[in-house]
Amino acid sequence: MRIALFGGTFDPPHLGHLAIATAAADADAFQLDSVLFAPAGRQPLKLNDTPSSFADRLAMTTLACAEDERFHASTIDAPRHDGLPNYTADTLAELAQTMPATVLYNLVGADSFLSLPHWRDPARLLALAEWIVVSRPGFSLDDLSALALTPAQRARVHLLETVHEEVSATLLRERLRTGDPCADLLPATVAGYIKAHRLYL
Ligand code: ATP
Repeated sequence: MRIALFGGTFDPPHLGHLAIATAAADADAFQLDSVLFAPAGRQPLKLNDTPSSFADRLAMTTLACAEDERFHASTIDAPRHDGLPNYTADTLAELAQTMPATVLYNLVGADSFLSLPHWRDPARLLALAEWIVVSRPGFSLDDLSALALTPAQRARVHLLETVHEEVSATLLRERLRTGDPCADLLPATVAGYIKAHRLYL
């Protein structure tokens, strides 16, 4: 099996998320069987910035994943019983332990990858999985020297620069607050869930 972990807050999941997961799943280089969309109970770098409950984010992520049979919503990053943030290094280690025969990838957008020095245990993160880093407008992948990767670490990072999606959950939440249904940027099922549950108002 070849699996990509795709972590995020998914507040809400949007067409940018689906575009990068599709690009990774379609790429011949990775031969992915599955992309695991894993909403984070507590995202360590956004501790005060996640308006919706985990239950709502998981429900919306499950709806978004129904758009492609290779996508699956995962509870592996559900809120922890000890209340601590969900660290990707722990998640990848758990996946590696429970699925030892699996080739593991970690899928991220360019903005997330460029913030790697702020993540817990970058060296361990790069040892635990191959990384698929997808382009995002406004974030250049031309110069990764600030990350000071060793040649062996750099060899585990695969850039996918074909995605140009001008969308963020922050922008969506702002537009949704004004009553705009954002049908152009959300799967219809997710837009329906947001409306039915009166989220982001
Ligand atoms: P927010 O605006 O609330 O910070 P977001 O839109 O960045 O949210 P997240 O759920 O935090 O969404 O992102 C999960 C992952 O998806 C991250 O790795 C992020 O880099 C990536 N991602 C999100 N939107 C895009 C996009 N438009 N293009 C490329 N990558 C993206």
